[in-house]
Amino acid sequence: SSGAPAAPQVKIKSKGLDVPALWTASEGNRKKSAAFVVIGHVDHGKSTLMGRLLLDTGAVAQRDIDRYKKQATEMGKASFALAWVMDTGSEERERGVTVDIAQHHFSTEKVDFTILDAPGHRDFVPNMIGGAAMADLAVLVVDANQLESGLKGQTREHILLARAVGLKRIIVAVNKLDSASPPWNKELFDSVSAVMARFLESAGFSEDDIAMVPCSGLNGENVVKPPPASGASAWVAQGQHRTLLDELSTNIPPPPSIETMKGPVRLQIADVFRGGITNPLSIAGRLSSGSLQTGDTIIIQPSGEKATIKSIEVNNHAKDWTIASQICTLHISPIDPIHLRTGDLLTTPTSQADITQSFTARLTILDSQSLLPQSVDLHLGRQHLSATITQLLAIHDVRTGEIIKRKPRVVKSGQCATVRFALNESIPLLKGMRVVLRSGGVTLASGFVEKVGI
Ligand code: GDP
Repeated sequence: SSGAPAAPQVKIKSKGLDVPALWTASEGNRKKSAAFVVIGHVDHGKSTLMGRLLLDTGAVAQRDIDRYKKQATEMGKASFALAWVMDTGSEERERGVTVDIAQHHFSTEKVDFTILDAPGHRDFVPNMIGGAAMADLAVLVVDANQLESGLKGQTREHILLARAVGLKRIIVAVNKLDSASPPWNKELFDSVSAVMARFLESAGFSEDDIAMVPCSGLNGENVVKPPPASGASAWVAQGQHRTLLDELSTNIPPPPSIETMKGPVRLQIADVFRGGITNPLSIAGRLSSGSLQTGDTIIIQPSGEKATIKSIEVNNHAKDWTIASQICTLHISPIDPIHLRTGDLLTTPTSQADITQSFTARLTILDSQSLLPQSVDLHLGRQHLSATITQLLAIHDVRTGEIIKRKPRVVKSGQCATVRFALNESIPLLKGMRVVLRSGGVTLASGFVEKVGI
């Protein structure tokens, strides 16, 4: 249809595995897994803290950090050595690939973790929404000495977005306590925690789902290792504040149900990588239902183009299969690039989703915002497009969901409403998909797809 030459046919026979059965059988020796998105104001120490987690869990070798340290020192930026672990920029320059949502992996004895990090340099908000949509929880990094600048800046917006995509649990790393005055100032930690807790609760997080971790990413205190039992930070261990790693390791979400694992294949494409030498075309994302194995024929929607899975990676390891809830990288047979974009849906020939230009969503309007029939930026996980609200259908009671007013002229702050949308293009849509509405860089409302089509 595009006039481009047909992609060469790659034939890999599916192994015909019963993946849900393999998953169930592996239960005894299987690790739990969790993915988190890292958010917070620029310079509050996100990259350094993540570099520290990777170093102290052994995912990155000390000799690599030493090498970064040498380079960083030569550039007069010694304090950035740990942060460079997270910097995919050099990799991008060398390999010519773009990474919108970087994945970094580390493991403990019991849990495999994935860090989802949207590099801040371009298109940050859509990438962050895409990352958060794949995450189980958020880690919010706050410089304890710069709370105000953070709350005025990106901290506030990131919290609203994390909540808008439906994340429930959030860990606040109250960071840089080593450089507080005096160092490890407990009163400062207490007051930052109180302000953050209030803000998070007003954004819709419930008290039980919020954790505060006093720490220093730079020195590595209370990240993986608890701080020393004596000295300025002794109150941390005495007060039974968990380390960041311990906090991450609690309340790991349960694996999806067997019905979800046996359900239709649904994977929203978070990243597309082209031009690798062994793997000319790869895609990454989180499988939200179903399972896949090497050799499977897949369909990319909305184009409807076919491809074959050549190989699969989960947590940086080659696998024969992947199952619902896993974040995976799939190396696929090349298809014409115009048929494959981030935000597209990967399905199988027998389980395609409805493609539509209209849908209805149930939304909650954010604080101090309102909604009219208007154009908006629509985010559906990784999918980002412009849309028009064609009709405000009804306002609902926030608690019971009962309709309290039909065809309102406007929907206001805090209200819950059903709204009809029209799109300029046809896309695959699934009932229950998370929706975030923005306009002019401001988040207006969030909710989920209630009905696909007219
Ligand atoms: P990001 O923009 O949030 O990723 O922040 P970076 O990790 O790049 O850190 C920004 C600056 O803060 C760098 O100079 C870091 O060395 C410094 N920094 C990060 N974490 C800490 C910390 O725990 N203590 C101190 N004193 N400085 C830190």
